[in-house]
Amino acid sequence: MSDSSQTLTLLAPVAGVVVPLSAVPDPVFAGQALGEGIALDPLGECLHAPCDGEVVQCARTHHALTLKTAAGVELLLHLGLDTVELQGQGIEPLVAVGDRVRAGDPLCRFDADALARGASALITPLVITEAAGWRLREPSLAAGVRVALGEPLLVLEAAVAECHKTVAGGPEAERRLTLALAAGLHARPAARLRAIAREHGVSLTLDHEGADSPSASASADSLSALMNLGLTEGAALRLTARGEHAEAALDDAEALLTTPEAEPHPAPKPQATPNEALGEALGEVLEEGELAGLVASPGLALGPLVHYRPPLPTVSHDGEGEVVEAPRLTQALARVGEALARDEAEATRSGQTAEAEIFAAHGAWLADPDLVAAAGERLRAGRGAGQAWREALDAEAERLEATGNALLAARVADLRDLQRRVMAELSDAAEAALPEFPEGALLVAEELTPSELVAVAARRPAGLCLAGGGTTSHVAILARARGIPCLVAMGPALLAALDDVPSEAAILDAERGRLVPAPSEARVAEVAARIAARRREAEAARAAAFEPAITRDGREVEVCANIGGAEEARLAAEAGADGVGLLRSEFLFLERDSAPDEATQRGEYQAALAALGGKPVIIRTLDIGADKQLPYLRLPAVPNPALGVRGARLWASHPELLETQLRALLGVTRLDALHIMLPMVSEAGELRQVRQRLEAIASEMGLEVRPRLGAMIEVPSAALCAASLAAEADFLSIGTNDLTQYTLAMDREDPALTARADVLHPAVLWLIQATVEGAKGRCPVGVCGAAAGDDLAAPLLVALGVDELSVEPARVPAVKAALRRLDAAALAAELPELLALDDAAAVRERLTAWLARADATPDTTTTTTLERC
Ligand code: PEP
Ligand code: MG
Repeated sequence: MSDSSQTLTLLAPVAGVVVPLSAVPDPVFAGQALGEGIALDPLGECLHAPCDGEVVQCARTHHALTLKTAAGVELLLHLGLDTVELQGQGIEPLVAVGDRVRAGDPLCRFDADALARGASALITPLVITEAAGWRLREPSLAAGVRVALGEPLLVLEAAVAECHKTVAGGPEAERRLTLALAAGLHARPAARLRAIAREHGVSLTLDHEGADSPSASASADSLSALMNLGLTEGAALRLTARGEHAEAALDDAEALLTTPEAEPHPAPKPQATPNEALGEALGEVLEEGELAGLVASPGLALGPLVHYRPPLPTVSHDGEGEVVEAPRLTQALARVGEALARDEAEATRSGQTAEAEIFAAHGAWLADPDLVAAAGERLRAGRGAGQAWREALDAEAERLEATGNALLAARVADLRDLQRRVMAELSDAAEAALPEFPEGALLVAEELTPSELVAVAARRPAGLCLAGGGTTSHVAILARARGIPCLVAMGPALLAALDDVPSEAAILDAERGRLVPAPSEARVAEVAARIAARRREAEAARAAAFEPAITRDGREVEVCANIGGAEEARLAAEAGADGVGLLRSEFLFLERDSAPDEATQRGEYQAALAALGGKPVIIRTLDIGADKQLPYLRLPAVPNPALGVRGARLWASHPELLETQLRALLGVTRLDALHIMLPMVSEAGELRQVRQRLEAIASEMGLEVRPRLGAMIEVPSAALCAASLAAEADFLSIGTNDLTQYTLAMDREDPALTARADVLHPAVLWLIQATVEGAKGRCPVGVCGAAAGDDLAAPLLVALGVDELSVEPARVPAVKAALRRLDAAALAAELPELLALDDAAAVRERLTAWLARADATPDTTTTTTLERC
């Protein structure tokens, strides 16, 4: 190797014929999954070092080794294709790990005849697996050119050589941690880990410490390898990153792996873990003919059972040879990858974050080198591209199922989805139509893939019963988001039941985890009556959704909607919302490379105001920090981000963000309807400063009308000083999610504390009461945290004196209906007793009983007391 300070030249390790890497009949090499490089069809029988370096890795089966140069560049020499199968036969290693070699030194001898008989090809790729800041010059040798041993083959240029010269390939850093993801290292965090490695340009390896199997280590490049580790919550891990930004990458990876996920659509609480829940369900006595399952999405449904079995797209079993089929597969994968990226962008744009994350994970999984390699093996065995992909994914699905690990098994549907999508790309037959089924059917299936669920949901099934799957699967998340009752993990008995019983009217009780395939007439009638009553209530609520919510004792309460952007503003208006109580403007800042400019922001705000046609719209200024991060706003890592610079505190360090946002807001044409709200305010001074800035910009812009300015009450100090805040504010809105977290010192993201971080804790209620008292006579108070839409908490909040509740758009009609049944004054009379209770559980119990009694005695609730409950 010539090693001037600016170039590295790699010499031919063997005499041979040049094969461009893209023409190597193995998608892993051809797709450059391992890196750029070149290949030779060897004419000699000994591989030599293409440069000076250290042997850092030798395959146990001797067919591959990696050299690392002093500059940190790593080169993989892979003798032949599929030579791993030979288990070292015909290959004689001449070096071992740790040996230092000079360019031209022999590395291994091989018996070309023996290899040619046992392997699929002798073509030997030379791949730069770690460029360490060097850049490969376009190879000058054309395909088919014959080179002699030691002839210059490739040249690398020192793209960022100055920094790498001193650090010999970039630093390596290591970190040990404990996995805190309740669902284990599943596809979405695995995909994120891979993205972190790429964003920082590092190679990242994850070792499962304490596990002694050789597969206990995985590169972040491979989603399958990461998931194959089968890591569950609490696993001890070692992360090793190599590259210039190793430490930064480890910071992000550590944050990812040690921060419990906030599931966007939490699983129903009683089903703590799939196994526990199923155990409990099965432990209960099942009535004759009933089947148990895990509740993936709660609800009650009645309908005919229909077996849903969409056929796989037809593909040809045998191929036209690897040289033809490999590029076909590569192109099909690329097309599906592009489609997934489009789906992800579309889902993100329309605020469907659950879908967007799923598409992102599928996209990452599609590029998994292990899956591609498994398909490559089948291509070499003569399969067509579609068949090779089908078999590779069948094998992976079987492997996941055989682990017995519910979390891994829950990913099988995702694999099936990818299987179907890629096969459809490779199928000549017109796309098979999805099987028909009547609206209102209870669909029974082995599995459903996420895309199938989306397609099926459009035809309005009454419910879903799946033999496989889990409550944490993507299908479960999607079913919950759509309100379709769904049971999973019902086992093979489910499909057998279909053969045994007439399927006219089965009962799906996805509250108790039961399917009753052949219920008695009396039971059908009873369930039908329950469903009809619920439907009537929902319809009545919808019919009255545009009427004001006035309590029995005559208090009018505004019921507004929480939205993420203009798209949802339309939903809010359609649902009968009296306005928008919270537009989380940070959604507009997500999924971008940089903050949206003034014009983009103004367009979004304007559209939201227009959708509400003059009703009030509260737009919250950017609320970033702690659990909400922007990739392009790298906030310094601090020990306790929830107590750090976040929300309104950010303006001191990033004034330009506020400035642009205020200008965008003041640029809208409905300033009379616009309300601007500041998040995470802890004292009146913060509000004063923003008002001054708002005033200055408004004068500069020559505006006559001023929008209203308000503050969120999310921390105890704001609640306790509500009077001084109310003196500065035009309105206050209580963020009960954060107020609960900060009052109880219980992280809202910590699944271990979910059940206890309850807004009905008397301490939180005292602070809400203090806020209402402080604001009395000064400004109105609303609630925009999740409590506003909670069946129990909403009436209590109104009894505490709040003027407005802001809830999910779809909840507006039901919340209005519930308030119309409420005697707020009667409940207010119970407050001293409720607030004197010990804990949230006690408040819940009393309140449930009080409300049940009040509902049951419509005209006499004003005299109901807690004692009578
Ligand atoms: C809250 O904290 O209650 C709130 C509405 O804000 P977010 O959930 O966006 O933090
Ligand atoms: Mg908040």
